[in-house]
Amino acid sequence: MADAVMFPRVAFVGIGLIGSSMARVLRRDKLAGSIVACARRQETLDACLKLGIADAVTTDPAAAAENADLIVIASPIGTNGDIARAMAPKLKPGAIVTDVGSVKRAVIDAVAPHVPKGVHFVPGHPLAGTEHSGPEAGFAELFQGRWAILTPLIGSDPAAVEKVAAFWRAAGSKLATMDPDHHDRVLAITSHLPHLIAYTIVGTASDLADDLKQEVIQFSASGFRDFTRIAASDPTMWRDIFLNNKDAVLEVLQRFNEDLTALQKAIRRGDGDALHALFARTRAIRRGIIDAKQA
Ligand code: NAP
Repeated sequence: MADAVMFPRVAFVGIGLIGSSMARVLRRDKLAGSIVACARRQETLDACLKLGIADAVTTDPAAAAENADLIVIASPIGTNGDIARAMAPKLKPGAIVTDVGSVKRAVIDAVAPHVPKGVHFVPGHPLAGTEHSGPEAGFAELFQGRWAILTPLIGSDPAAVEKVAAFWRAAGSKLATMDPDHHDRVLAITSHLPHLIAYTIVGTASDLADDLKQEVIQFSASGFRDFTRIAASDPTMWRDIFLNNKDAVLEVLQRFNEDLTALQKAIRRGDGDALHALFARTRAIRRGIIDAKQA
C-alpha cells in the first residue's frame, strides 16, 4: 500500500458515492496533503466535514480548483462542462483534471475545450458502484478488484496519465486504457442497457393494478428483487447517461429488441430447443464472469 503523498492538494467537485470513496482511499493511504470538497448543497459539505473526508469545503468549483494538483470531477455528467468552464481560470499549470463519468465521449467534448494549455485532462471511469448516493454511501474498498478505465486524449502527457493510474492502483483497481467511443459502446451493452431493462421492468410492475402491485412486492423473488435494486440507482445520474450516450444505447437497444422478438417467437411456437440453446449459452457467460472474478 502506498503511503507517500501523491498529490499535495486534491479537489473533488461533486463528492457523492464515487468522489467520497476516492477521498477515503486518499485518506486511508495518506496520498493527499489536503482535500477540498465542492458541492451545491451545504448539507453535502457538512457531511464531508463530519466524515473527515475533506479539510475544506466550498460551493464554488473555481475556489476548489485553485492551487489543486489533482481535480476530480465526480458530479453527474450533465454538469461537467459547466464545472470545467467555471474552474478554468483558477487551474494552475501542471495540474491534473480527471473525471469518473460513466460516459466518456460526451464528457470529453464538454470538458476538454475548457482545460487550459499546460493543465492535463485524464478522463477516467471506475467500473464500480452501488445504488446508493451521497458522501455517506462511499467506502474505500469500493474499487477493490474492479476495473478503472482511462480514456486518455491524443497527446495526453504520459506522466499525468501515470499519476492517475497510480491512484487507481492504490485503490485496488485493475486498469485498462480505451478509446472513448469504444468505451461508450462497451458500456452501453454491459451497463446502460441492463439499467434500462431494470427501469422498464420495475416501471411496468408498478403500473399494474394496485392489488397485483402489492403482490409483486410481497412475493418479490430474487429475479425481480435484483431488478428493483438496479432500478433504485440515482435518477439524475442515469438520465444524464442516457442523454449523453444516445447513439450507442439506441444501437444496442435495437439489437436487444430484435433478440427479444426472436425469443417471443420461440415461446409462441413452443420451440424448446431454441430457448434451451439460448439459456445454455447465457449460463456459460455467467460462469465466465465468475471465473474473471467480476461476479
Ligand atoms: P452521487 O452520489 O449522487 O454524487 C454526486 C455529487 O455531485 C454530490 O456530491 C452532489 O452534491 C454533487 N453535485 C451535483 N451537481 C453538482 C454541481 N452542479 N456542481 C457541483 N457538485 C454537484 O453520484 P455518484 O454515484 O458519486 O456519481 C458521480 C459520477 O460518477 C457520475 O458522473 C457517474 O456517471 C459516475 N459513476 C457513478 C457510478 C455509480 O455506480 N454510482 C459508477 C461509476 C461512475 P450536491 O447535490 O450537494 O450538489
